[in-house]
Amino acid sequence: MDKEKILKDLENIVGKDFVSNKAEDLYIYSQDPGASLPRPVDFVVMPSTVGEIQNLVRSANEHKIPLVPLGGGLTLSGLVIPVKGGIVVDMKRMNKIIEINELSKYALIESGVTSGQLLSHLNENFPNLQPPVPDAPPSATIAGNVLIHGSGYLSQKYGDHGAMINGLEVVLPDGKVCKLGSCAVSKFWFARGPIPDLIGLFISSFGTMGIITKLSIQLFDKPKFREVVFGLLNDPKDIPNILLKITETGLAEDVLLGKQDKPDWMKGYVFVIAYVTGESQEEIDSHIKSFKRVYRKAKARYMKTPDRIRTAYLEKPIFAATAADFRKGGGFEYVGANMPLENIPEAYKRGAEISKKYGIIPTLGSRLIGGTHNIVMFFSYSFNRADPKDMENARNALHETNKLALELGGIPWKAELVGQQLILEKMDPNYKKLYNTIRSTLDPNRIMNPGNWEVNK
Ligand SMILES: Cc1cc2nc3c(=O)[nH]c(=O)nc-3n(C[C@H](O)[C@H](O)[C@H](O)COP(=O)(O)OP(=O)(O)OC[C@H]3O[C@@H](n4cnc5c(N)ncnc54)[C@H](O)[C@@H]3O)c2cc1C
Repeated sequence: MDKEKILKDLENIVGKDFVSNKAEDLYIYSQDPGASLPRPVDFVVMPSTVGEIQNLVRSANEHKIPLVPLGGGLTLSGLVIPVKGGIVVDMKRMNKIIEINELSKYALIESGVTSGQLLSHLNENFPNLQPPVPDAPPSATIAGNVLIHGSGYLSQKYGDHGAMINGLEVVLPDGKVCKLGSCAVSKFWFARGPIPDLIGLFISSFGTMGIITKLSIQLFDKPKFREVVFGLLNDPKDIPNILLKITETGLAEDVLLGKQDKPDWMKGYVFVIAYVTGESQEEIDSHIKSFKRVYRKAKARYMKTPDRIRTAYLEKPIFAATAADFRKGGGFEYVGANMPLENIPEAYKRGAEISKKYGIIPTLGSRLIGGTHNIVMFFSYSFNRADPKDMENARNALHETNKLALELGGIPWKAELVGQQLILEKMDPNYKKLYNTIRSTLDPNRIMNPGNWEVNK
């Protein structure tokens, strides 16, 4: 690899100020906030136009050097740390909110727009609309989130965030720009079809299919009032019953479950938080009454929501980091796994056992996606970032949890490299073949985030 020549080419494409190969700049790009070990990076670039990205892709093909697209870099599972070195393409400068369509209710944005940016733009200019955002820090990009099947407080009602993509503009691995969704045919980015739906190829493929430059995501009406209804279950076995009863009402906006041994009074219980929304306080009060009945019938103890919890959980998005048991050194990573409802009780029981085995305070949670169609389960592990042994301990716990999720019929979400390999081992061979054929056809030089979803046989 002629690094001098590559540096010159990159400087010509994005300008000297927006490329670096200096150790002090690359350091931060060689790691993420999760438990993965650092991996080497050769260059970082910060493009600002679609044309620059096309030229980057052409140059990477010429030099056969990997490209790794990066949004906020907050998945925690090492997805934006290059596996085979190469160029990290930091998308933060492509941060224009191009259009908010109030009638068809979508936002057309560049892919470096962060969730905090879109949220505050809507709050200031379109206070009746809300975007689908995760409970991640506000520097997470909308693109990075929807591209990993992310989820948030609108997901119980409307599904995961990947399902809310109306359209994409992508620079393919050969440098061509391609539009997907209604924007491929119409000037409106209002829908995904009705044409063959290729958008799915770009979701959870972790940057292996191309670089997304623009996207349209659905927006939703913002309710005037919102309240949390809090309950405690003694036995995780009762989870399916209460979730079916809650969703039957059709009244819940978001539904969260959790089990954590801190604070002490929560130890041993599974907490249930259902959100009710309405246009008036009377409507909210009536929904709360209905939920008290539901909780009683489902063997849950209704409780007035403790103030601290109410304040934290009424923030939308929630400041999720409060749920983690941060140790000295402040690291945490979780296995998120999409799971079928029938095995959620077992997931709570065995998840807590794994935490105890590794000496980590159990912090388990879940969120409904589209009613009870799909539950995202979070098995969270904290560690001391300054202690390599403690980080290794967390990695081992994560690995065992990925295996557990698969054993229980679930699928690890935004899986790190070893998790991806566990999924591939179980995957239908013809699914793997199809994915590999598409990938090799689009990207014969394997420049797009190689090492991820690597199908070996
Ligand atoms: C405290 C905390 C709470 C969280 N809570 C949630 C939650 O409630 N819900 C949730 O869904 N997630 C949550 N997460 C996980 C994660 O932070 C979010 O999903 C986040 O939105 C990911 O966005 P990002 O910009 O950081 O993506 P990145 O990590 O930068 O990227 C994610 C993936 O997308 C690819 N990618 C990024 N941009 C592009 C592009 N332009 N073109 C092609 N590929 C691209 C990357 O290569 C990578 O594979 C949480 C994380 C933390 C730390």
